[in-house]
Amino acid sequence: MTADMSAFSSRLHFFGDLTFLTAHRIGAEQSQAVDAPKLPILRTMDGLPYIPGSSFKGAWRSYTESILRTLQAQPGLIDNLACLPLAEKERCLTPDVIRRIKNGAGAGASQEQSIVDTRLRDASCWTCRVFGNGQLAAKVLVKDLYIDPARYFQTEIRDGVAIDRDSGRAKGGQLYQFETVPAGAAFSLEILVENATPAECGLVMLGLNAFMRGEVLLGGAKSRGLGWCKLEPKWKQSEYVTTNDPDDLLTYLFRPADVKPVGLTGQESEAWVSAFREAIQVKEGKDA
Ligand SMILES: [Zn+2]
Repeated sequence: MTADMSAFSSRLHFFGDLTFLTAHRIGAEQSQAVDAPKLPILRTMDGLPYIPGSSFKGAWRSYTESILRTLQAQPGLIDNLACLPLAEKERCLTPDVIRRIKNGAGAGASQEQSIVDTRLRDASCWTCRVFGNGQLAAKVLVKDLYIDPARYFQTEIRDGVAIDRDSGRAKGGQLYQFETVPAGAAFSLEILVENATPAECGLVMLGLNAFMRGEVLLGGAKSRGLGWCKLEPKWKQSEYVTTNDPDDLLTYLFRPADVKPVGLTGQESEAWVSAFREAIQVKEGKDA
C-alpha cells in the first residue's frame, strides 16, 4: 500500500441535500449596526444564509470522535481510533511524538520527507488521518453549503435572556436578540474524500449515516431546540473511483466535462462500513 499522498489512489465525490427540521443558527460576528440584531446569522455576499464547510466538518468530526472514543475503549477493538485534538497531551501526535519522528531514528537531517509523512500518519489516530491534524492534511473536503432559494423565506429574530453561567439564573434581566433561519431551509452538500482506503471511507460514512438519521445537530442554541437537520444522500450524482480499477480510472479522467457521472447505488457505503468494522478488530498475534 502506498502512503504517498501526492499520488492519486481513490476519490469519493459525495452529494446530498441537508434540510432543517427546526430553525437553526450559524452566527456571524456581533453586529454594530442599529437596525440589525446584535447576533446576526452568517450570510453570503448576496445576503442569503449559508453554512461554512468548516462548520459542517466540525460537527461531523466531533460526532465521529465521540463515537470512536467509545468504541476504542471496548475490548477486542483497536485503541487508536480517536484522540482529543484540543488537548495537547491527549492528541495522538503530541509535540514529543512529532519531535521524535522528525528527528528520525538515525536518519539525520536528510531523512526523506515522505518517510516522515508516513510515520506521522502511522502515529496518528484514525480520525486525524481522515479529518486532518496539525501535521496531516485532511482527506475530507467540505464545500460551503448554499441554500436552495426556493425553500427559504425570511429569517426570524428571537429574544434570548442572558444566563449567568455560575448561578444558572437570568443575568439581571439582560435581553439580547438573535437571528435564526426558519425550519424547512435546505442546503446542498458536496464533499470530496481523497485517497481514503475503503475502511477510511467506512469511517466517513459512520458520521454521514448519523446525519442521515438526523442525529447530528448543527449551529448554535441547540439547548433551545435549534439545529435539527437531516441529510438526504444523492447517490446517483455521487461517484467513487479508485486506481484498483484502471478502466474506471481512465474513463473518469478522460471523460468530457459535460458527461454525467456513473453514479453510486448506496450499497458501496455498506461495503465501506463493513471494511471499517473489519479493520478495527484487534488481530490476534499481529503484534506478538
Ligand atoms: Zn488524533
